[in-house]
Amino acid sequence: MQVSVPKSLDAALGLLAEDPQAVLLAGGTDLMVAINFGRTRPEHIVSIARLPELKELATGEQVRCGAGVTYTRLLERVRDRALVDAARTVGSPQIRNAGTLGGNLGTCSPAGDTLPSLAALDATITVASQRSGERRVPFSGWMRGPKKPALEPGELVLRADWEEAGPAQVFLKAGTRNAMVIAVASLAMVVDRARRTVRVALGSVGPTIIRATAAEEMATGLLDEGGWERPLMPTEAAQARFGELVAAAARPIDDQRGTGAYRRHVIAVMARRALQRTGAAP
Ligand SMILES: Cc1cc2nc3c(=O)[nH]c(=O)nc-3n(C[C@H](O)[C@H](O)[C@H](O)COP(=O)(O)OP(=O)(O)OC[C@H]3O[C@@H](n4cnc5c(N)ncnc54)[C@H](O)[C@@H]3O)c2cc1C
Repeated sequence: MQVSVPKSLDAALGLLAEDPQAVLLAGGTDLMVAINFGRTRPEHIVSIARLPELKELATGEQVRCGAGVTYTRLLERVRDRALVDAARTVGSPQIRNAGTLGGNLGTCSPAGDTLPSLAALDATITVASQRSGERRVPFSGWMRGPKKPALEPGELVLRADWEEAGPAQVFLKAGTRNAMVIAVASLAMVVDRARRTVRVALGSVGPTIIRATAAEEMATGLLDEGGWERPLMPTEAAQARFGELVAAAARPIDDQRGTGAYRRHVIAVMARRALQRTGAAP
């Protein structure tokens, strides 16, 4: 196995242009597991773990998070709770010290914890290649299928960016235990009161991250009626309806972590809690 360790982004893009089949290595917390279990045997690995260009993290109203930013750094700097709470649930401290946002996007699993939050924050992913330069992909176009990111040969993820959305955000995750767990179902909800938008995105209940658009419209209607600047106190009936709309958007399957029926139940429970909590937030 050939392993290249470029010292700059340009050098990494040059290596990928010469060998588009080369596999990128960032924190290695997904890739090394796949290699160790014999699921993949790349002939050429390009390590991007130390590229300073991918470690940029700018916060403020406009957030730019380099692909090489680890969960630990993200937790220290980012203020969007949906993403912070997602990052906090990833693995153990060791995994959070090594694993990166770009790796979660590259693996592109419907159970990737940051992905519902990036969807709910309406993030844009910037990718780059030597041949075509930079290209921006809205998160809605990122997942072409399970583990199929919208990356062309020779491209890598440079960064994700989004607009900071205020405090009315949640990320909820259900697993088979409380820590070090792959999501059985997850939900991110972001109510951006200033921009008057509601986004609800579901993880682990379909082949890709799913936006619950009917539930988003319902919550938008409630906020239009009650006033975006005021707390929202949904009735029991409204919470139940919101949960039903979210569950109806899910397309869960039975697998070793849970049944489709359990996933549909749990996502409805999470939806009700998310509506309550984002409603109560300032
Ligand atoms: C014990 C353990 C617990 C875990 N727990 C969780 C969890 O709770 N939640 C969760 O979501 N994940 C979890 N994971 C999975 C993993 O930690 C995350 O997916 C992490 O974000 C991967 O990042 P990485 O930098 O280690 O990626 P790597 O393993 O280096 O790469 C992963 C994939 O992405 C590609 N890639 C990496 N960087 C880029 C880039 N910049 N551009 C294009 N492609 C790129 C690689 O080629 C590879 O295909 C866990 C893993 C382990 C081993």
